[in-house]
Amino acid sequence: MTRYMVTAALPYANGPIHIGHLAGCYLPADIFVRYMKLKGEEVLFICGSDEHGVPITIKAEEMKKSPQEVVDYYHDIMEKSFKGFGIEFDNFSKTSIPLHHENAQKFFKTLNEKGYISKKTEKQYYCEKCRRFLPDRYVEGTCPHCKAEGARGDQCDACGKVIDNVSLIEPKCKLCDSTPVIRDTEHFYLDLDKFQNKLKTYLDSRTWWKENVREFSLGWLKDGLKPRAITRDIDWGVKVPVEGYDGKVLYVWFDAPIGYISSTMEFFNRSGKPDEWKKWWQEEDSKVIHFLGKDNIVFHAVIWPSMLMGVGGYNLPYDIPANEYLNLEGKKLSTSRNWAVWLDDYLTRHKPDILRYALASTLPESKDTDFSWTELQQKNNGELADIYGNFINRTVQFITKYNDGRVGENPELRNEDNEFLDTISRKVQSIGKLIEEYSIRKATYEFMDMAREANKYFTVQEPWVLGKKDKSRLDTVLYVCMKAVVALACAGEPFIPFASKKLQAFLGIKNFRWDSISSVAVPSSLEGRELEILFTKIEDKTIEDEKARLGRKAEEKSAGKNENTLSLSEISIEDFKKVELVVARVLKAERVQGADKLLKLSLDLGTEKREIVAGVALHYKPEDLENRKIVIVKNLKPAKLRGIMSQGMLLAASSSDKSRVKVLFPDESCEPGDTIG
Ligand SMILES: [Zn+2]
Ligand SMILES: [Zn+2]
Repeated sequence: MTRYMVTAALPYANGPIHIGHLAGCYLPADIFVRYMKLKGEEVLFICGSDEHGVPITIKAEEMKKSPQEVVDYYHDIMEKSFKGFGIEFDNFSKTSIPLHHENAQKFFKTLNEKGYISKKTEKQYYCEKCRRFLPDRYVEGTCPHCKAEGARGDQCDACGKVIDNVSLIEPKCKLCDSTPVIRDTEHFYLDLDKFQNKLKTYLDSRTWWKENVREFSLGWLKDGLKPRAITRDIDWGVKVPVEGYDGKVLYVWFDAPIGYISSTMEFFNRSGKPDEWKKWWQEEDSKVIHFLGKDNIVFHAVIWPSMLMGVGGYNLPYDIPANEYLNLEGKKLSTSRNWAVWLDDYLTRHKPDILRYALASTLPESKDTDFSWTELQQKNNGELADIYGNFINRTVQFITKYNDGRVGENPELRNEDNEFLDTISRKVQSIGKLIEEYSIRKATYEFMDMAREANKYFTVQEPWVLGKKDKSRLDTVLYVCMKAVVALACAGEPFIPFASKKLQAFLGIKNFRWDSISSVAVPSSLEGRELEILFTKIEDKTIEDEKARLGRKAEEKSAGKNENTLSLSEISIEDFKKVELVVARVLKAERVQGADKLLKLSLDLGTEKREIVAGVALHYKPEDLENRKIVIVKNLKPAKLRGIMSQGMLLAASSSDKSRVKVLFPDESCEPGDTIG
């Protein structure tokens, strides 16, 4: 039996996930995997966060955090968003784990031993003050092409041109603003040229790929592949496993795809079968399928297969069903301009199924498509609520209200009933076939068409008339309608899993196989069962609010509001309540050696003793504070200052230039441990 090793592009851990990512690969991959699992296929769905590279270190410097803290933070946000949208990975790993570092180093070593890696000396900016090489994005200067200021080491945003190595005019180190020097540095290169012919044969043989993906990949081979640098001079990443190359790490695009394999290993290590991953990546009857967005095609269709061929023993990607781009309200999605719908934010207001369904109907499968809130409203109101929800609801209501909850067990099916049931079965089959071809949009239409047909049947049969004149015919019609409800509950699972699971629970459906949906049993009675409304209408006002919100967020971004620094006006009362302010008594105050601004304070908090470090030494002598009561923030993360762990922060008022600093002393009748707020 064929095994399906399915991956979705590793999301980069320097921000949350938006709808573009969801439409690009996570949603189609999840729909595919859910269907394949329901079909009874052996499938593994693997992902993880991509956590190395310069954008992470830059983000870390902006946020004044370590790179590890940054990637941990975004990993959690991403994982929650995926869970919230029902993207059910078998494993969601991280590339910063030791297992992955070892694995990536092993890839490097093998390629090196087999002669696929070469070395080259190149020129790079080096900051003597920071004592480090400066990757492209750490240098800014004047563009040599258009003379615009603020061009990065690798590209000018003003004219869009690529900037050749070390050619900026008046370059400056972004970290310290001093002028860097140019130094020689040695880097490792993957000799892609050595794979040119093999790659051509490989790509030519992939006749079943989407045309845009194969054409694009073959295009890369036209001018002949050249060696590509696979190392960089930064600290954050997988260390180059060669002696004498300290301070160099593997380029993130080199280690990232290896992350799929590491994530698979992690999954099987956890389940106590450490060798099982080999089956999925190396045995002939496994098919590796990479879901991804257009920008990732070259890495997966050209570079990754080269790496796999070079190392040897691995299956080459069987298919790469890459999607094009999704636009938002007619404009290109943009993280830097904050023109996006962020998944974590969406989930605070709306149901995941609605966005899943709306996006599935407009996936950019063969060309760029557009998402709009108005269309989401139409999809929800006009289809999920009015067609799908309506049919289920009217059937269930009719049975409960007018037929004592009985469904009728001995139907006498007429031609028209059989024809209708055949149509439903054919549609279920067709949905499956379309998903296997990665035509998710068409599969989604076909699913809604099932509900449309079912409504038609209900209307034509007029059960409300039958109830008065032909009880046995009514039983049959209701039974047939319930067969359709069951089919919708099962076939909807890949698209709208949350509503489908609810409906399945209502119907008592536990396990079913896709190919036998038409024989899943219909409950004989609905007595005592209750079904909540699955989809309600979205008001116009809600949609207007969402559109206004999009514009507002983009404006805030262009006005320079950084999402990493909470502006006070945006803190909710709930946020403020998280800050614990308490009264403390200063037991002892002393100067900190070598720091003329700091005082170390030993405090009594009523129930415990603590030490904090406060920057008030220029304004207060130790004896001014001893025995006084002060207010501190109690639940700050402890921080080390001059080697002393500070477990809180003292409250003080200061003039804007800090020339005047006054500690806030609470009323003398306050007691240590009293809370404020
Ligand atoms: Zn320029
Ligand atoms: Zn510097």
